[in-house]
Amino acid sequence: MRIILIGPPGAGKGTQCQRLVELLRVPHLSTGEMLRAAVRAGTPEGLEASWSMEQGQLVPDSLIVGMVIRRLEAGDCRAGFLLDGFPRTLPQAEILDDLLERRAMSVDGVIELAVPRDELVRRMLARKRADDDPAIFSRRIASFEEQTAPLLEYYGRQGKLACIDGLGTADDIFSRVKSATQRFERGFTGR
Ligand code: ADP
Repeated sequence: MRIILIGPPGAGKGTQCQRLVELLRVPHLSTGEMLRAAVRAGTPEGLEASWSMEQGQLVPDSLIVGMVIRRLEAGDCRAGFLLDGFPRTLPQAEILDDLLERRAMSVDGVIELAVPRDELVRRMLARKRADDDPAIFSRRIASFEEQTAPLLEYYGRQGKLACIDGLGTADDIFSRVKSATQRFERGFTGR
């Protein structure tokens, strides 16, 4: 299965992804994690990304697309993958579609984890991460609303979007995520 999980910062994507990769037995491709690892390792890509990340802005499409393509070409992604944090802009989504199409593949389904803004802020205040400063966090939410939310329409038009209520316990949410993947399996068989 090739699945994308989309949600605003603080929606709980990480928790759901961990459970979903165990269920589907596919690699978890988190671009946030890839970038943080590159920053820690001090690679040229990490250096280029760090300023944008600290500011709560997206890193340039060209930078992240290069990293994702390299990762998707690894053998463990052949049977499927769970993309977390990518695509985040319309150009990224189009590049991904092109890339998969050239390999006679496509995305099986996209899960949107929907959480209201006041709940996101409440959760952010309860955890601690360098880019969780309240002003920066608002910028990350704004970048989600401006640059990433249009993707929901893009995948909706392709009939691939499942919108899931991201409120409740991690178990409640996971059972919704699981039924969405089962719908993808039924709706997009043979790929
Ligand atoms: P979030 O909690 O906002 O979902 P992530 O861990 O996914 O955070 O990403 C952290 C940061 O890494 C983002 O704020 C952004 O600067 C950068 N980033 C991650 N994925 C992408 C992407 N696909 N395109 C551009 N920037 C990205």
